[in-house]
Amino acid sequence: MQVKDVLDLMKAEDVEYVDVRFTDPKGKLQHVTLVADLVDEDFFEEGFMFDGSSIAGWKSIDQSDMKLILDPASAYIDPFYAEKTLCVHCNVVEPDTGEAYSRDPRGTAVKAEAYLKASGIGDVAYFGPEAEFFLFDDVKYQITPQKVSFEIDAVDAAWNTDSSYEDGNLGHRAAHKGGYFPVNPIDAAQDIRGEMLSTMKRMGIKVDKHHHEVATAQHELGMIFGGLVQQADNIQKYKYVIHNVAAAYGKSATFMPKPMKGDNGSGMHVNMSIWKDGKPLFAGDKYADLSQEALWFIGGIIKHAKALNALTNPGTNSYKRLIPGFEAPVLLAYSARNRSGAVRIPWTESPKAKRVEARFPDPSANPYLAFAGLLMAGIDGIKNKIDPGPASDKDLYDLPPEELAEIPTVCGSLREALEELEKDMDFLLAGDVFTRDQLEGYIKLKWEEVYAYEHTPHPIEYAMYYSC
Ligand code: GLN
Ligand code: MG
Ligand code: MG
Ligand code: MG
Repeated sequence: MQVKDVLDLMKAEDVEYVDVRFTDPKGKLQHVTLVADLVDEDFFEEGFMFDGSSIAGWKSIDQSDMKLILDPASAYIDPFYAEKTLCVHCNVVEPDTGEAYSRDPRGTAVKAEAYLKASGIGDVAYFGPEAEFFLFDDVKYQITPQKVSFEIDAVDAAWNTDSSYEDGNLGHRAAHKGGYFPVNPIDAAQDIRGEMLSTMKRMGIKVDKHHHEVATAQHELGMIFGGLVQQADNIQKYKYVIHNVAAAYGKSATFMPKPMKGDNGSGMHVNMSIWKDGKPLFAGDKYADLSQEALWFIGGIIKHAKALNALTNPGTNSYKRLIPGFEAPVLLAYSARNRSGAVRIPWTESPKAKRVEARFPDPSANPYLAFAGLLMAGIDGIKNKIDPGPASDKDLYDLPPEELAEIPTVCGSLREALEELEKDMDFLLAGDVFTRDQLEGYIKLKWEEVYAYEHTPHPIEYAMYYSC
């Protein structure tokens, strides 16, 4: 959509409000609501001033003025508000120069797309993220200096649709690792997921499926691939819809990567391909019918994976998912077959669909930063012809210890990932796509989470050590 299309849509839909939205460094969508009369062609040109000092990780109070520039391509009618409201995702710019604010994640994603073009490697990168999530009935948690308590009420959202299930009859409920994918009544979130997907479709997102996932109460909705910025926008819309439809059903959705011990966590696999001159750059005659460029792209992802973890697996909880036995990767290996490595090449006969799937990212990631980081790692791989080494076609969970020891792993903690990013950020800084100031600000924000986590006694520590 261009500005004119958006203005036409506003007229046709009799829009009362315009919600301008942007994403903070941690990945949370923020918004301000304006009376629709304010928004005309000039407004798209001039943008909207706001105080950036209250956003964690952005400007200090003495230099807090920032400007939002609306991207008409992202516009949609809000499906939840009672008053007819148009929503538009924005880039943040410096008010005096009009340049992209260096800590704006969406601006970084825009620059990553431009960098790919300028590099001559490709014209467009397609992204197909698959974000998993859980639906719970209710979550109560309480953190005080003395006490951390956390309780999930009735694990499967479905368990409460008939309250007689609550206390015992779980005969038709998904057991641990048993959710993939028996029909209802074991899958009891069909209607919720259907409403989520239809809502996304009405917002203009191209969708293709929805299903229960492997873990109890775990789900996934499918979107058709698209450009980097567009798909990062779509992940923000996806989360918005899922949270709000869940809330309308009295449920609570979470994208935290590992909400339950002993069952699968939630990943956000990211499928990627590059096209040049209208042709798929990743199709060829090498391993798994990949091209040499695709192999180098994989080489870049694997080489920089530990630093990428700080962007793609950005929470302390992320590292509870990256353990063996739950379809999440640990080893930095690639394969066309097994799902236990960091990178998989999904099987397809069509050269057009040839793609590389990074399996370590999770849905707590800021999608703009995660996708931009993955693309930058892949471009670095292609530019420097980074050989990914031989593919690993065995089940990596079952390798003998001597073979295992040879293969590098993803990071084991957010602490480690931040240290790795501090050491390895040049590939992100190429072409000023990310900036040092931005990454330093991000790392500082994330250290606060590491300290909060490491300094807080955990419930399991009471069980293990209280009576020592
Ligand atoms: N939940 C798994 C993960 O953590 C993926 C399972 C799947 O989609 N096959 O990545
Ligand atoms: Mg999937
Ligand atoms: Mg899945
Ligand atoms: Mg997948």
